[in-house]
Amino acid sequence: MADYTPIPEILNIHNELRKTFRSGKTKPLEWRRHQLRQLARFAKENADALAECLRLDLGRPKQEAIMAEVAPIVNRPLAAAEKLEEWMGPEAVTLTAPWNKTFKTRVERPPKGVVLIISPWNYPIVLTLQPLYGAIAAGCCAALKTSEFTPHWSAFVAQNLSKYIDPSAYRVILGAVPEITKALELKWDHIFYTGNGRVARIIAAAAAKHLTPLTLELGGKSPVIVDSTADISISAKRILWGKINNSGQICVAPDYVLAEKAIVPQLIEAFKQHYRAFYPDGALNSNSFSRIVSDAHFERLKGLLKRTNGKIVFGGKWEEGEGKRGFEPTLVVDVKEGDALLEEELFGPILPLVAVENLDEAIEFLGDRDHPLTLYLFSNDEEAKKKVLANTTSGNFWINDTFQQVGIDDLPFGGVGESGYGRQIMRYSFENFIYERGVVDVPFEDEPSFAARYPPYTDESLAI
Ligand code: NAD
Repeated sequence: MADYTPIPEILNIHNELRKTFRSGKTKPLEWRRHQLRQLARFAKENADALAECLRLDLGRPKQEAIMAEVAPIVNRPLAAAEKLEEWMGPEAVTLTAPWNKTFKTRVERPPKGVVLIISPWNYPIVLTLQPLYGAIAAGCCAALKTSEFTPHWSAFVAQNLSKYIDPSAYRVILGAVPEITKALELKWDHIFYTGNGRVARIIAAAAAKHLTPLTLELGGKSPVIVDSTADISISAKRILWGKINNSGQICVAPDYVLAEKAIVPQLIEAFKQHYRAFYPDGALNSNSFSRIVSDAHFERLKGLLKRTNGKIVFGGKWEEGEGKRGFEPTLVVDVKEGDALLEEELFGPILPLVAVENLDEAIEFLGDRDHPLTLYLFSNDEEAKKKVLANTTSGNFWINDTFQQVGIDDLPFGGVGESGYGRQIMRYSFENFIYERGVVDVPFEDEPSFAARYPPYTDESLAI
């Protein structure tokens, strides 16, 4: 395993990146395109090794690793290279007021400078390299601080990324709290943080000292509403799939279900049926099921299940033993307000189900809680879709499926309120790292038309 970056080296990295940025090297379109293609090559040529890192760090099945983490980093930087000229602009703007319509104006989108990307353990590849392709596309230099909880991935990227993209512009910082704390003392031109809300507050306070702009990609409890018009079997299958991926350790995992009372028995039956179909020999015996990342998270999940007042329908067992940390997908019903399962983000394979009378009660329930990253609705009723959309707040709103939003290239992805701010994926990733610069070129020939603005003032200057 690679050593953590020595603290004095963090300052050197920062200085080197700043020097590179000042040199202008990262700005030309063709240079950015080349780095983006090289990043895609890094992911493609190392796909097996990357999947193996995730198996070692997270017990992640290879299919999930390739589909959710490697494929986007092969495809999106290549697509970004194609789109980049259009994203960069400049965008011509025609002024219309009589006094300025002869000015030559445009909006430029220059890079912000040297940026810091701080990523978590749960989708460690895509959550590090997705902001990175945004930063490369924007023409920035970047330091990547990966999570200490994914040592294999972190060591791999630290050792191999520089074989593909320019190490004078892109560097990896390995470490835990002392290393990131040092990095946060320095002045960055943007910080892109993905992780939990507690640490986000530390990052935001550090950024405030330098007035550094931030993107905060956070999590929280993403609720699912199922109404009585939904296709119950398909709904159960799609919700369960969203929950079992990476053992529920996904920022957009369906956290809990609010189901209309009338359909609860059918919905429970459908969950049971799909659970058996996904894992005929039990999830803990399956190669299609991830493990829990750390002992601390494992203990937290066990504690939640021990404390719940709800009834376990299936699951509820775990696999002890050195480094195993298997936790069965667990459906808990009859969960009432005040239960610990409804308080903190679960971030694991426990699915609580709460019965509600109707959509109004579900909306009321959500209104009392933090704004989620994603709100899911399963319904066949267009009026219900409109009603939930109009009366709730969430970063993303998905109807009749789960988890897939992170696979869509063309929509903004991000949170609101407690689930964070800023957006990512493709163009939205790029936009974090540029700023819009209005450029105006005023013709000398216009001078006669400015006469009224200069002292000594006359009544002519009062004309509106
Ligand atoms: P984590 O523990 O790996 O922490 C994330 C990063 O913060 C790491 O690089 C870590 O070193 C750093 N960090 C930890 N303590 C710090 C401190 N005191 N000061 C500065 N930096 C510190 O990951 P996590 O936070 O457990 O990640 C899971 C959370 O991330 C969940 O809440 C999940 O919902 C959220 N998440 C959000 C998204 C999204 O796109 N919105 C994606 C994935 C995960």
